[in-house]
Amino acid sequence: MRNDLWQHAIEAIESYASKLDKLPITPRVEPADIRSLLKPFDFARQIDAKEAVNFVVESLCLYQTHTGHTRFFGLFDPATTTVGIIADALAAAFNPQLAAWRMSPFPIEVEQHLVRAFGSRFGYQPEQTDGTFTSGGAEANHTALLTALTDTFPNFASEGLRAQTAQPIFYLSSEGHHSFVKAARMSGLGMTCLRIVPVNDNLQMDVGVLSSCIAQDKSEGLAPFMIVATAGTTNAGVVDNIEAIATIAGDERIWLHVDAAWGGAVAMVPELCHLLSGIERADSITFDPHKWFSVPRGAGLYLTRHMDILERTFHVATAYAPRKRALTDAVDPFTHSMQWSRRFIGLKVFLSLAVVGWDGYAATVRHQIAMGDYLRGQLESAGWSVVNNSSLAVICFFDGTHLEGESAIYLESIAEEVVSSGQAWISTTCIGNSKPVLRACITNHRTGTEDVLALIQTLSQARLKVALKFEQACEPAAR
Ligand SMILES: *Cc1c(COP(=O)(O)O)cnc(C)c1O
Repeated sequence: MRNDLWQHAIEAIESYASKLDKLPITPRVEPADIRSLLKPFDFARQIDAKEAVNFVVESLCLYQTHTGHTRFFGLFDPATTTVGIIADALAAAFNPQLAAWRMSPFPIEVEQHLVRAFGSRFGYQPEQTDGTFTSGGAEANHTALLTALTDTFPNFASEGLRAQTAQPIFYLSSEGHHSFVKAARMSGLGMTCLRIVPVNDNLQMDVGVLSSCIAQDKSEGLAPFMIVATAGTTNAGVVDNIEAIATIAGDERIWLHVDAAWGGAVAMVPELCHLLSGIERADSITFDPHKWFSVPRGAGLYLTRHMDILERTFHVATAYAPRKRALTDAVDPFTHSMQWSRRFIGLKVFLSLAVVGWDGYAATVRHQIAMGDYLRGQLESAGWSVVNNSSLAVICFFDGTHLEGESAIYLESIAEEVVSSGQAWISTTCIGNSKPVLRACITNHRTGTEDVLALIQTLSQARLKVALKFEQACEPAAR
């Protein structure tokens, strides 16, 4: 019975993998459709396991955006590695409890091994790297905020923010990630503690403004405690000038966090890692293996070169937790991170990295950047105007062939046409807080030139339709 069910699940997974690229990427469906599908499930009667699995498999095929599709040019949502999927099943099946070392020696040491391995890729000394796996980048960034507060304000852990005589302030560029907005709220700081630093023409944090902001805040008796540099912005794939920011952070004695959730992967590519130059000076780093490392969601990583800071931030003593005592250098993750009971997040990263290797990941990143360059060229030849200047595979563009081609409403209509065609997936965004653009990102390691050309074709068709709609809308009504 068990065996039969497993065979069935494996067949379902493999069948999805083989037909994924032929499915419409985005479903056409409304909330009411799904709700009526779920209505029969009142859980008053039991149903056969196979039947239940089939229902879920069919519904997942029909009613989700297939981010693993080669023509998904979306946010940083890659196709997954096969061993990553297997790892998630193994983690569920063996279900190790990663709260305390004594409960899960192998899983916890696997994760610590990875923490040191990733630390050294970012230029930390492996034996001077600590860290924790997280659900994703948002939790890693929240962790960074808490560690920076704990490090800067010695009584933060015991007495909290209300004990601080000076208002803590931290800095993020206007292109930085919005998870810091939530982190500011969740930590009790509130939004007014977050300074949004404007960007320069390259969409990098304006370091001149950063410096004067800090000087101004200090002169007003406020307490700057963290600067966030972004390595690979969500909007446009831009890497801040980490060296310059690190120098300011060093001079001002402020915690430097680098949010490299996506862009951190270029550290694996010898000829590109200079883009992250200065990241080794960061006090902490966010890196998301569930982005460019193509493991199933959720796998984030918080790294730091301060060996004691996680312990200082998260340590608690309980009578009921198993003791690690007598193990001086072993870590109990529950005293070291936000989560308590925790699944084996690192396994999918371990298996994927063991199988793909650093060189395999370097090749993947290189390929995707090459496809990004190819897409840029093809867009320009087809009359689209590329506006962002990124070495990475995010391309922001507008329609240079139409009078309305730079307006938000026109570009949103194009994106809608593309998405509703089911042939490709792109989105819109607004860069520098003022410029509406279409955004396409190469985020799948299997995306090739034929997929790029298909996107160009889908975009051309969308442009024809939208241009027609705009012309009709402009015609005098009374004719
Ligand atoms: C994706 C991303 C985040 C958020 O990470 P999640 O894994 O979605 O929680 C934060 N910062 C940057 C730069 C990102 O790209």
